[in-house]
Amino acid sequence: MTPTIGVLALQGDVHEHLTTLGALGARARPVRRPAELATCDGLVLPGGESTTIARLAGLTGLLEPLREAVRAGLPVFGTCAGMVLLADRVADGAAGQQTVGGLHVTVRRNAFGRQVASFEERLAVSGLVDPVPAVFIRAPWVEDADDDVEVLARVGTGPATGRIVVVRQGSLMATSFHPEVGGDDRIHGLFVDLVRSA
Ligand code: GLN
Repeated sequence: MTPTIGVLALQGDVHEHLTTLGALGARARPVRRPAELATCDGLVLPGGESTTIARLAGLTGLLEPLREAVRAGLPVFGTCAGMVLLADRVADGAAGQQTVGGLHVTVRRNAFGRQVASFEERLAVSGLVDPVPAVFIRAPWVEDADDDVEVLARVGTGPATGRIVVVRQGSLMATSFHPEVGGDDRIHGLFVDLVRSA
């Protein structure tokens, strides 16, 4: 079957995700309205600015449908700001920052600090044979995770060594980095597999 995978298209890195998902054989669709969400077998929450995306989701009537979809078991993949949006708890969030939630973690926003706001690492990820090029841009990390959350990768070098940057919990997946800009589609491949097997 060809899964339909939506990319929340309110703000941020939408186009790159659509291209990568399409190349992997999914029917990739931008999602801006609840009716579009309803047709999806899986959804990507892209990087961008989590407070802006959450505000726009509220204004377009998508926030509650997104929460319901996660509760109903829709496979969702959050990248960077999307990881913040999937988190149940946000550290260093903006005042009153809303999330979709569902992922049983605390995510720290802009966790890597100003000096290392952006960096790239070849990251070892469980389930992938070779490391992936991971581009971090004002990225969050997972500060703590409940027992039902599987840690798939931690930072391997530098001052943030050991910090959790890739997680999975059932049909939810999240990365601190931007898999759509590294020129490597294997992380998206993991998500497409997850959608196909859901
Ligand atoms: N710092 C941004 C936020 O908290 C995320 C940055 C990104 O997605 N590249 O929303």
